[in-house]
Amino acid sequence: MRSENISFHGGKVSRNERFSVLGQKGVAAWMTGLSASGKSTIAVETEKVLIGMGKAVYRLDGDNLRHGLNSDLGFSEKDRFENIRRAAEVCALFVDAGFIVLASFISPLASMRSMAKEKIGDGFIEVYVKADPETCEKRDPKGLYKKARAGEIPNFTGVTAPYEVPRSPALVLDTEEHSIDECVRILVDKILQLSALK
Ligand code: ADP
Repeated sequence: MRSENISFHGGKVSRNERFSVLGQKGVAAWMTGLSASGKSTIAVETEKVLIGMGKAVYRLDGDNLRHGLNSDLGFSEKDRFENIRRAAEVCALFVDAGFIVLASFISPLASMRSMAKEKIGDGFIEVYVKADPETCEKRDPKGLYKKARAGEIPNFTGVTAPYEVPRSPALVLDTEEHSIDECVRILVDKILQLSALK
């Protein structure tokens, strides 16, 4: 039940003060794309590169969050919205703290991504991790497409559930055109620009 006796307790430190302690601005690279498009692979490598540069960075991964915070949620549209709502709230806290967040969530509907954008605010960028459905199905590193085709996974994005391609993402990582390393370099460059303190 929603509590009525709560109010917002402000602190004595501004967001900019937190940013200057870390020497960077908070940024959320919200990575959307089909299963097997490359979100997690690119996020893992990007995290390593940024950590190597001394950046404060954290990876939020849809599958990982479903083991903990979101372990009570399934894949109905309602649960998927709730999954993204919680993920976006967590992401917003990290960005407010000054972290660079690599958020890999299929987030198949445009309305889910705009909810995340609204919650996170400044620092949010939509990154479309692009690969054709056929390519993703061929890659199928976790055998999920195979299971979905066999009817073992209901509501599987790209097979039995829709994916709305982003209309104007801040960045497109075309994983069929660029290697993993190239995608990482493009993403790192963008993040470094956005997280730089003026
Ligand atoms: P997702 O997190 O989007 O479900 P994964 O990162 O788990 O996808 O899987 C993507 C698969 O595609 C991996 O097996 C990866 O090695 C392969 N792959 C091939 N080319 C690329 C690329 N350019 N960028 C990212 N992944 C790629």
